[in-house]
Amino acid sequence: MSMRELTVLGTASQTPTRLRNHNGYVLRWDDEVILFDPGEGSQRQLLHTGITATDLTRICVTHFHGDHCLGLPGTIQRLSLDRVPHPVAVHFPAGGAEYFARLRHASSFHETAELAVEPITADGQLITLGVGTLEARRLRHPIETYGYRLVEPDGCRMLPERLSAYGIGGPAVGELLRVGHLDVDGRRVTRDEVSVVRPGQRFAFVMDTGLCDGVYALAEHADLLVIESTFLESEAALAAEVGHLTAGQAARVATESGVRTLVLTHFSQRYADPRRFHDEAREHFAGELVIAEDLTTVPVPPRRVASAG
Ligand SMILES: [Zn+2]
Repeated sequence: MSMRELTVLGTASQTPTRLRNHNGYVLRWDDEVILFDPGEGSQRQLLHTGITATDLTRICVTHFHGDHCLGLPGTIQRLSLDRVPHPVAVHFPAGGAEYFARLRHASSFHETAELAVEPITADGQLITLGVGTLEARRLRHPIETYGYRLVEPDGCRMLPERLSAYGIGGPAVGELLRVGHLDVDGRRVTRDEVSVVRPGQRFAFVMDTGLCDGVYALAEHADLLVIESTFLESEAALAAEVGHLTAGQAARVATESGVRTLVLTHFSQRYADPRRFHDEAREHFAGELVIAEDLTTVPVPPRRVASAG
């Protein structure tokens, strides 16, 4: 069975704390294992999760502030140390290519791993994966920043009892799927009559940003949304000034966008009690709410119920 889940490596913004590592997240989505925004210490955090460098297929960086990328040197060198046999794709804002080049070769090491470097050059850039489409959207932050979402297209699930009622079996099923209809005993049977829509799933990753169109574009109908909530509403003015979100804003985005599971993270060290993020978000969002802690795992919720075709 395919597995889709988020593993949280770190949840602190700006500086790590005694309880929170710098940012870092791994999304396991069938055979894609994507590392997002590895901050300092991500390599060691990975060790605690059972995810290895060899598992990684892709790295996505939202922007080149230290808490989102200082884990790149260690992680990239680890790919070579472990002789990861497959190429690992890397995406980051093209404007930060110089930072990436430095981080990639921050110190001497024997480079054997192959990186497929594909910078993001435009808002709305699409990257085709085997499991769906990865889309980058521009966010609002003092430096070039992109959030990401993974969109699986809707599929179609055949209903065996309807197929057999029409006497359709074997290779004819494939033809019906391909063509969209099939003539059986002088009657045309359409695909919709014998199938239901299998809704595709969506994951969205929204870091460091003030409210902007990109936030909503990424969050739209996400089954699982990971979104920064650096601040609480009491610091809303400061949040807007420095290009960050409050827990209340993030929760309202989730509700307005039809999000199912909401994961808040990237917390400012000024707040000692994480329950404050929960309480503020709960006022605006009624779905599954997770206030991220380091080294926790959050499953992508089960697929939405199929609707009649
Ligand atoms: Zn930042």
